Amino acid sequence: MPGSQLESNLATVQDLIRAAAKRAGRTGQTNLVAVSKTHGAETIRAALKAGQRRFGENRIQEAKSKWPELRTEFHDIELHLIGPLQTNKVKDVVALFDVIETVDREKLARSLAKEFAAQSRTVRCYVQINTGEEPQKAGVLPGAADDFIQFCRDECQLPITGLMCIPPADEEPSLHFALLKKIADRNGLDKLSMGMSHDFEIAIEFGATEVRIGSAIFGPRQVAT
Ligand SMILES: *Cc1c(COP(=O)(O)O)cnc(C)c1O
Repeated sequence: MPGSQLESNLATVQDLIRAAAKRAGRTGQTNLVAVSKTHGAETIRAALKAGQRRFGENRIQEAKSKWPELRTEFHDIELHLIGPLQTNKVKDVVALFDVIETVDREKLARSLAKEFAAQSRTVRCYVQINTGEEPQKAGVLPGAADDFIQFCRDECQLPITGLMCIPPADEEPSLHFALLKKIADRNGLDKLSMGMSHDFEIAIEFGATEVRIGSAIFGPRQVAT
């Protein structure tokens, strides 16, 4: 995709985000996390040149191959991990990412706490909630969310600042977004990462503070994910 097309896609998405926030009477920020998975450094560079600074990646190896160099060229980048995290990758993730959106098990929470201490570096964490209770999907079940958040805070001293969800593909997303918001409110969390290319305007209506958008900006993914 030519850089000018990407720039215009970014501007369109930003306009739609602003319009949705206005319609919903939202006062706080709704930030765009540009999901650059499968896209090469050249494409990402075009987005950086257009001013975009928040990005999401779902694969650690892929992120490691692209971002260290981009970070030397551009400052103020905020990189979000939005894919599954195995404990043997925690070291790389803590070194590379600024927000981990997929904290979802005690073992991982403990491992992150240990790595933050080892690297003297703390990365903001969101808990992923499996709002659709789908067996194949990552995330804490809604009924276990409060206890897990408390565990992360009290036992591991993790800086949990938000929640993330990926609604089931074949269901009306609004119920899932409303549920995520409810869990966040009762746990005093103010970041809500929800909404993708096909449903971000609905997510904003339900309180998203971050929308994760890939294909509407970068076009179809380059390889299967
Ligand atoms: C790929 C991905 C997105 C972006 O999806 P699009 O439909 O391309 O906007 C958002 N969130 C997660 C967790 C993803 O893996």
